[in-house]
Amino acid sequence: MIDTHSHIYDEAFDEDFSLVLERARSAGVEKMVMPGIDSKSHARMMDCAAKLCGYAYPAIGLHPTSVDSSWKEELQFVWDNYRKGSFVAIGEIGLDEHWSKEYLEEQKRVFEDQLMFAWEHNLPVIIHSRESTQDVFDCLDRVGKPLRGVFHAFSCSYETYRRIKKDYGGFRIGIGGVLTYKNSHLAAYIDKVPLSDILLETDAPWLTPVPFRGKRNESGYIKFTAEKLAELKGLSLEEVDAVTTQNAKEMFAI
Ligand SMILES: [Zn+2]
Repeated sequence: MIDTHSHIYDEAFDEDFSLVLERARSAGVEKMVMPGIDSKSHARMMDCAAKLCGYAYPAIGLHPTSVDSSWKEELQFVWDNYRKGSFVAIGEIGLDEHWSKEYLEEQKRVFEDQLMFAWEHNLPVIIHSRESTQDVFDCLDRVGKPLRGVFHAFSCSYETYRRIKKDYGGFRIGIGGVLTYKNSHLAAYIDKVPLSDILLETDAPWLTPVPFRGKRNESGYIKFTAEKLAELKGLSLEEVDAVTTQNAKEMFAI
C-alpha cells in the first residue's frame, strides 16, 4: 500500500519515529507521500525526505490554515524552495472555512496561484477542502486548467463525488480513517465509487481510523481503512491494495 497523505515529519512522531516507521512497513506500507504545510515545517519534512529517500516523497505547498498576513512571503517560500528539491505534488493546498474565514480571500488567491503553478509544472495537486466545497470548485473553474490530483480526506456526498468526476476528471478522492467511523455517509455509497478513483491515505497524525479513533494516527493504520474498503466493496484486501497502490504510483509518479 501507499499512504498518499502522511505527516510523518510532524513532532507527534519525534519520540518513536523508528517504531512508527517499522509498524508502517510491517503493515504493508511500501511508500508514502508527505504533504507540505508551510515554511515552519518545511525543514523537518525535507529532513525526513532525505532520511527516507525512496520511501517518503515530499510535496510542497502552502496549507490554507497557514495563510495569514504573511501569505506573500509564504508563497514566495514555496516558489523558491520548489527549485531546491524534488517534489511529487503541489500540496497540500486548498480552502478551510471551518478553521477561520478571516483570510478567506487570501486563501483563495494563494490556492489559485498554486493551482496555476502546478499546471505550469505538470504536477498533481493535493487539495484540502473543509467546509469549502463550492468555493474550491469556483477556484478550480477560475484557474480553468485541466488539472489532476486528489481531494484529500474526502467525506462529501455522492453528488459531490459525481460532480468531481464530471467536471474535474483528472482527480481522485483520498479515503482515510473517516470511512471507518460509525454513521459515515461515505461508507453508505463507497460501493458505487470504482476503485480506480480511490487513493488510500491516513493524514497521520490526524483522522485516526477505528479501532484507534481518538488516539494519534500513524501510517500503519492505513490497513484498517483498506480492510473497511474491501469489506464495503465486497472485494479482497489484495485487490484493494493492488489497485489503489497502482493509482498512487500513477498519480505521483513514484
Ligand atoms: Zn494533511
